[in-house]
Amino acid sequence: MISLQNVTKRYGAFKAIQSISLNIKPGEIHGIIGSSGAGKSTLLRMMNLLEKPDDGDVIINNKKINHLKGKEIRNIRQSLGMIFQGFHLVGNKTVFDNVAVSLEIAKIAKKNRTERVMESLRFVGLEAYKDKYPRQLSGGQKQRVAIARAIVNNPSVLLCDEPTSSLDPTTTMEILEVLKQINQQLNVTIIIVSHEMEVIRSLSERVTVMEDGQIYEVVEIEPTGVNK
Ligand code: ADP
Ligand code: ADP
Repeated sequence: MISLQNVTKRYGAFKAIQSISLNIKPGEIHGIIGSSGAGKSTLLRMMNLLEKPDDGDVIINNKKINHLKGKEIRNIRQSLGMIFQGFHLVGNKTVFDNVAVSLEIAKIAKKNRTERVMESLRFVGLEAYKDKYPRQLSGGQKQRVAIARAIVNNPSVLLCDEPTSSLDPTTTMEILEVLKQINQQLNVTIIIVSHEMEVIRSLSERVTVMEDGQIYEVVEIEPTGVNK
């Protein structure tokens, strides 16, 4: 699955990540918690190959990423979906086209895109919104579109960076329920970063606690469930 071995990331002289080792297990929902500046986003961005470690190895599906070439990196990136706090939808594209972007990037033929986009939109409950624009949607709906975009390439892992931090408590629970269904019904491993303990506790089976660019501890917990 995803494994980090003695990974260090520096920004100038500052070490944002200090020799971290972590193994993500296939099928788990893994929470990463820590205060602002602890290094959570940086860690996630290295798992998604958006950032390269200065030291150590990122290993995905038994391959060391450091030595891979552009094409192989792109293939691996397509097996990793990612969602963000700020949704990152494209404002002048419809809901349908926002989701289709992932298939375009993956060079899926146009004639095969419609069915897959609609399948993803159905999964997040937004089939009827396919022709709307992001500005016409609520925050929760926008995050559902971002989730549809992230799962349309059938990823094995979904990386979630503060996915509910700009949502109200009720919408937060709805989005967490969608993530749980993605894990259970689509067999997608989920890594969820949050500074909110309640969010992490509701879904995660294992939690990595980060502090000052290091792992403070990794704990196994019984998820409290999603209370609606
Ligand atoms: P978290 O997600 O836990 O809030 P981040 O991973 O965003 O933490 O940041 C960890 C530390 O690295 C912070 O001190 C942050 O200011 C610093 N940092 C993150 N990205 C950059 C960057 N591109 N350039 C310089 N410093 C950065
Ligand atoms: P978050 O909302 O999760 O805190 P940030 O706003 O810090 O995320 O952005 C995370 C990364 O995504 C940054 O590198 C940023 O440049 C990039 N990003 C921000 N907005 C967009 C966008 N609309 N499309 C693509 N990437 C974006």
